[in-house]
Amino acid sequence: MPALRYLFLDQMSQSISCLKDINKETDTILIAETKEAFTHVKHHKKKIAFWISVMRHFSLELQKQKYKIKYLKIDDPDNENTLENILMKESQKAQAKTIIMTEPSDYAQHQRMIKLKASSAIPIEIREDDRFLSNRMFFAEWAKDKKQLRMEFFYREMRKKYDILMQGKKPEGGKWNYDSDNRKPPTKGLDIPAPYIESIDKVTQEALDVVKKNFNNHFGDLEPFFFAVTRDQALQVLHQFIEERLFNFGTYQDAMIEGEPWMYHSHISFYLNCGLLLPLECIKAAESAYKNKKAPLNAVEGFIRQILGWREFIRGIYQYKMPSYEDENFLDASTSLPEFYWTGKTKMNCLKQCVSETKQNAYAHHIQRLMVLGNFALLSGLNPSDVNEWYHIVYADAYQWVELPNVTGMILFADGGVLGSKPYAASGAYINKMSNYCKNCTYKVNEKTGEGACPFNYLYWDFLNRNHDKLRTNQRLAMIYKVLEKMDPEKKKQIIENSKTFLNRLTKNELI
Ligand code: FAD
Ligand code: SF4
Repeated sequence: MPALRYLFLDQMSQSISCLKDINKETDTILIAETKEAFTHVKHHKKKIAFWISVMRHFSLELQKQKYKIKYLKIDDPDNENTLENILMKESQKAQAKTIIMTEPSDYAQHQRMIKLKASSAIPIEIREDDRFLSNRMFFAEWAKDKKQLRMEFFYREMRKKYDILMQGKKPEGGKWNYDSDNRKPPTKGLDIPAPYIESIDKVTQEALDVVKKNFNNHFGDLEPFFFAVTRDQALQVLHQFIEERLFNFGTYQDAMIEGEPWMYHSHISFYLNCGLLLPLECIKAAESAYKNKKAPLNAVEGFIRQILGWREFIRGIYQYKMPSYEDENFLDASTSLPEFYWTGKTKMNCLKQCVSETKQNAYAHHIQRLMVLGNFALLSGLNPSDVNEWYHIVYADAYQWVELPNVTGMILFADGGVLGSKPYAASGAYINKMSNYCKNCTYKVNEKTGEGACPFNYLYWDFLNRNHDKLRTNQRLAMIYKVLEKMDPEKKKQIIENSKTFLNRLTKNELI
């Protein structure tokens, strides 16, 4: 029975469930550059160029393998304005008797497809996305009787389930987690390997031209463009990471150095999230490196935990808690996103560096997202809706399923502790310890109050003070609240005044 098999833009995998039983003679694969996908939020220019180049390369690969492909370019006259219309029209043209798709990763889009299935004259089959290592049922079963959902315990189940870094029933080396050996501050003279840079071929050049023509008013630098855009290239990125960076991944996982956006991270999230790489192959590659004594256990376990633990846990939370998760605002944070998140125009050097790198690369590594950009959003009381939109727009690996729990749960504590046990709030001392940003900053990280003091220092205490009623009962904050309660009243008064002045200037978008 002829089928139309539709691939969403983050499903560029040949092993995806909706292609599993494809008949090359009768079935048509549909890939479409839908305007709504690029403009639903105004994505970073590099991200759109990446998507278009990946989709076009993927379609060419499938054509080479003699699959029947219908590819709709953005300016194709047949490209209808909604996905629903595209699916109806193209299924008729392909004389398909059924439409087969893998469930979209985005909650709202999934709901739309369920609705379409219910009303469509042509049968629609929506299959589970088995590229992930956990699924709704497994997560719900794990979560069902738990008072708190903690990644660490979920991760242990996943290690056992997939038999990764296990010695029988025990974890390799005797411990589940080697973070105590990780997260060292940066040291001088680190020889950080250059990141993977892919040259621009004809297809990518056309993708860049599409973005210049259609999306020039979006955020971010389109060029230089360097992403891998095919599966073979993405595998090279993974290989290069395993050979050159994995060894130091754990040790310098949280380190930040001015002018070094890539550090020892893997830079594979773009490829994992759009389908060019599969999570299990990345995990297995790291595990083999450990077995072959190419990388130490602290690095390998730390890396595997990010994918088998965090990535799957985050998706589990998203599926478990949507749609209400989108509206969470436990701390009633209401300040609008300041202009400098787009321009990088601020005297706070850490923020300036992280925003500029985000603008250039559509990438910032985890600790920049969490402890600089996220920490500032938390301490300043920025509203979850603005912050979520920003993170969704600016990173080439951002899709709502992964961005939303990281923002609402991890950085803003807007879910009241569903994802994390306490807010990731920190003063300037943390940023100073883990980076060299403070050396080139207008503000003094060692000053706690006053005009020249690092704003993170007073905002940190002000945040705790402002949210006293909601956070005081959190056991993990008990010690710090005791310090606040014993604080000299004069000092406390100055902290509150400094914060008020600063936040007032922030809301007026003054240069801070
Ligand atoms: P590495 O540091 O090398 O880690 C390896 C892999 O682990 C990543 O590629 C990623 O797939 C996975 N991973 C690690 N941490 C997380 C996490 N917290 N959640 C999910 N996966 C994780 N990641 C995204 O893929 N898309 C996002 O939109 C996104 N938004 C984020 C927003 C905030 C506020 C924060 C704090 C984190 C966010 N992350 C997001 C997680 C993480 O920062 C990125 O996955 C990582 O920086 C990607 O770079 P990398 O591939 O070099 O990662
Ligand atoms: Fe950031 Fe404060 Fe350091 Fe400046 S002094 S770079 S604002 S942490």
